[in-house]
Amino acid sequence: MTSKSLLQKIDAILPQTQCTKCGYDGCKPYAQALVQQEASINRCPPGGSQGIQQLATLLQVPVLPLDPECGPEIPLQVAVIDEAHCIGCTLCIRACPVDAIIGANKFMHTVDPQLCTGCDLCVAPCPVDCISMVDANRTWTTADANAARDRHEQRAARLLKLSLQEEARLNQKSIQTATHSEELASLPTPPQPSGNEKTAEQLKKEAIALALQRARERRQQGIKKGPATP
Ligand code: SF4
Ligand code: SF4
Ligand code: SF4
Repeated sequence: MTSKSLLQKIDAILPQTQCTKCGYDGCKPYAQALVQQEASINRCPPGGSQGIQQLATLLQVPVLPLDPECGPEIPLQVAVIDEAHCIGCTLCIRACPVDAIIGANKFMHTVDPQLCTGCDLCVAPCPVDCISMVDANRTWTTADANAARDRHEQRAARLLKLSLQEEARLNQKSIQTATHSEELASLPTPPQPSGNEKTAEQLKKEAIALALQRARERRQQGIKKGPATP
């Protein structure tokens, strides 16, 4: 079996909640770590004992108990926002890995329970603690997992596109700044006073000194001549 098809088979077993409780940044990275034999099969609480059993069979390794470091196996939950207290900060939207939260800046937010994977990643960022996790009263199906995978991949593609657009915008801006600097550098340099040229201030001082000198001389000449006769 090629490593690509093994990756796909492992990923198909994982529940796609994208909760990161396995210690990886989603189900696909955990699947890759399993392909590379860098992780053990017992790190997915949403998949629980059934998921561990399926991974053990696929990878032909012994069954292990769920690693308590990753959290307990619990029934499917769903996030609920107390809309009366929501301040519309959008932090939960940014945290949701499958775009299950609907809202806009400064408007109340709400969770679509059919899209919510129960990952609880939106709870911690909420600054007013108005998100709680409650029992979903349903089971997570393969169709749910496939839909969550699609939504997660669409979100990742959208974020990558936005990031590339922002990078292109910043590059364009730095090119414009560099071009402007080059244009300034190519302008003729204004004439600078040489060491021999006198500044206007020096000329003014010299004119005053000369006028004072002449006034002194005239006074001296007046003293030597004595007082003028009427
Ligand atoms: S469901 Fe959560 S714990 Fe399981 S593989 Fe996906 S991200 Fe990891
Ligand atoms: S709404 Fe919250 S709990 Fe539900 S998928 Fe999004 S981040 Fe996870
Ligand atoms: S993080 Fe909390 S306060 Fe902010 S938009 Fe989401 S629910 Fe509302």
